[in-house]
Amino acid sequence: MINHHPPLELLFDYATGSLPEPVALAVASHASMCSDCRKQVDAVESLGGALLSSIEPEEVSKDALRSVMARLDEPEVGAMRCAAATNRETTEVVPEPLLPYLGRGLAHLAWRGVGRKFDEVHLNLAAKGFKASLMRLKPGAEMPSHTHVGTEYTLVLAGGYKDNGEQYGRGDFALKDSSHEHRPIVDTDEPCLCLVVLDAPVKLTGAMGRLMNPFLRV
Ligand SMILES: [Zn+2]
Repeated sequence: MINHHPPLELLFDYATGSLPEPVALAVASHASMCSDCRKQVDAVESLGGALLSSIEPEEVSKDALRSVMARLDEPEVGAMRCAAATNRETTEVVPEPLLPYLGRGLAHLAWRGVGRKFDEVHLNLAAKGFKASLMRLKPGAEMPSHTHVGTEYTLVLAGGYKDNGEQYGRGDFALKDSSHEHRPIVDTDEPCLCLVVLDAPVKLTGAMGRLMNPFLRV
């Protein structure tokens, strides 16, 4: 049961293609697990289609048409990255839009241990100024208290955590910005696997901050 969804504005921006790749990836991955959000995205997309088809053909310049046709011919970014991520452990946990970024699958990624609390692997995305990573937090792991200069988008893929009294589990989407100070704690017996996208560095606020900061920079 998914309880936390992207805000409507974010779904709208996703549906109209105006999100940068890393954020779009987080929203697309959530929507692939959440029928409610998929319906919202479909509704915006069909509204956009209806608006386009109501425009008189002569209003669309030949150049605009040519550039649209050229873009249709380009291979999708995801498709270019796609390697066979076919092992079952990966396909059972990882939503479809994220699969092309994971090469041969979860077990083959270059996980890097950060302290004793979690492993992390950076995803190779082209968008500048963003950091997208998978984080695998150990059961019981408590993250250092932190806030954000920018925005942090988190999608839970497995396990779960508690944050400010709210429970997050598989499929849940969390958006945190500089107005939130938080300290997620993994409260499941299995590790908690999350996709985390940051558009600016994390600002650690607790005593652990000085220790952890170098690991968390974008
Ligand atoms: Zn949703």
